[in-house]
Amino acid sequence: MDDCIFCKIIAGDIPSQKLYEDDDVIAFWDISPQAPVHFLVVPKKHIPAPVDVAEEDEKLIGKLFRVAAQIAREQNVDDGYRVIFNNGKKAGQEVFHIHMHILGGKDRPWPM
Ligand code: C5P
Repeated sequence: MDDCIFCKIIAGDIPSQKLYEDDDVIAFWDISPQAPVHFLVVPKKHIPAPVDVAEEDEKLIGKLFRVAAQIAREQNVDDGYRVIFNNGKKAGQEVFHIHMHILGGKDRPWPM
């Protein structure tokens, strides 16, 4: 998608502080962290929002949880982190390329 900022990050056209990458998924530090540990786990496939997840995406979306857990262990926050997906403008979604927020490093991070 030409106008998608996360597609540009995935393509390497916009820099990010990368934590993980494979053929399906990328993870990077959020540029505006809301907790001591705040990173995003993003499928490379352009799915605009959680409401757009199709049956064929189930495995890919499941993988986001596994990658998130791996990074959480590496960052020593696997004993407590919050998982957030925003769906739609009303819920605060700003980037319309589905992404999982992982927040940790303090108690009850990011009470949105
Ligand atoms: O769920 P929502 O769409 O609101 O979250 C988008 C997130 O993407 C924000 O937390 C924002 O800080 C982050 N972002 C980023 N790098 C960019 C643009 C946005 O980490 N280049």
